[in-house]
Amino acid sequence: MSIQVEALTKGYGPLTVVHGISFEVARGEFMSLLGPSGCGKSTTLRCIADLEDASSGVIRIDGQTVSAPAQNLVVPVHERQVGMVFQSYAIWPHMTVAANVGFPLAIRKVPARDVARQVDNALEIVGMRHLRQRHPAQLSGGQQQRVALARAIVGRPRVLLFDEPLSNLDAKLRESTRAEIKRLQRELDVATVYVTHDQEEALSMSDRVLVMDGGRIAQAGTPKQLYRRPANRFVADFVGRAS
Ligand code: ADP
Ligand code: MG
Repeated sequence: MSIQVEALTKGYGPLTVVHGISFEVARGEFMSLLGPSGCGKSTTLRCIADLEDASSGVIRIDGQTVSAPAQNLVVPVHERQVGMVFQSYAIWPHMTVAANVGFPLAIRKVPARDVARQVDNALEIVGMRHLRQRHPAQLSGGQQQRVALARAIVGRPRVLLFDEPLSNLDAKLRESTRAEIKRLQRELDVATVYVTHDQEEALSMSDRVLVMDGGRIAQAGTPKQLYRRPANRFVADFVGRAS
């Protein structure tokens, strides 16, 4: 239920975009990666999820090393047990709600009976169980977002990862989804990494915020610490900026 990242570096060809960053997220802790577009937030998250191969460094989940390029060690995505929600929440239109939510378990070859039970459980938590046989086109935007959340929490993931999950939503839906994310995260009591470029979102939702600048950590601290005692001009300008 915890995440440790040690000296994570990631390059695309000759371009290094994450420069040896280290941080830990404890069980039950909600940590945001906050920074301007292009600073390496998504890349960091994608390395934790195995959607990208890290160039160097070590990533551990619950103490288990899941990525250590120096030792040629890479635990594949379906064995990492991470739940992830993206900006475009990408549920598949041709699949029912239940099939969408069960997909992460199906690719892990969990027996069908267990999949059905865990899917119902996840849908129950987001209040969508009665719509399990619908297709996404038959759902409202808010309901589709709940399906994406149910898919992220199905099978009780060890960690939750969010990449700008509110940025494509209208203001009303953004409010309710934000509250839903916080509720789920508390209920599951898992380490959570939440990527956003929105300082208000990061400060109001997080236990701790890691401000990134150009692939490096500019400052890590509680929202209060960042706001009151910014470590440098970049943090002061970025965190203090009116949204
Ligand atoms: P953020 O999420 O903070 O906006 P990203 O992690 O997406 O930033 O990107 C960091 C940098 O890496 C950017 O300069 C981006 O253009 C570059 N980048 C991201 N993905 C790729 C890729 N697949 N190939 C090459 N460059 C990439
Ligand atoms: Mg991004």
